[in-house]
Amino acid sequence: MPDLDPFPQLTAIPKTGALTCGHRFTPNGDPCGWPAAWHVAWQMTATKADLSLVCDACMQAVQRCLVYVDRHPARLECGKPGTGWLTQEPSRCVWVEDDASCGPNWKDRP
Ligand SMILES: [Zn+2]
Ligand SMILES: [Zn+2]
Repeated sequence: MPDLDPFPQLTAIPKTGALTCGHRFTPNGDPCGWPAAWHVAWQMTATKADLSLVCDACMQAVQRCLVYVDRHPARLECGKPGTGWLTQEPSRCVWVEDDASCGPNWKDRP
């Protein structure tokens, strides 16, 4: 099945505080733009994470077609600069600006 690629093509989008769906139906298409319902982690290491905000409708497509390692309901923190993904159960996004005790969690700063 050469056309089936379970890994998403990702485009880096700076966090602006907006909780809108960044899912693209075609690689060069516009992002969906609906209010995001889910925060999806495609892959995650100690230093890097690929994350997307996804609306309910797109989440259904994601679950059908793509693989991801984790997700949680989108909250205010998910779209804010200075936050990172806390890999607990359940996962969530937290402020990491001044908190070095967050462990092996991704921080969206260089
Ligand atoms: Zn969407
Ligand atoms: Zn989040």
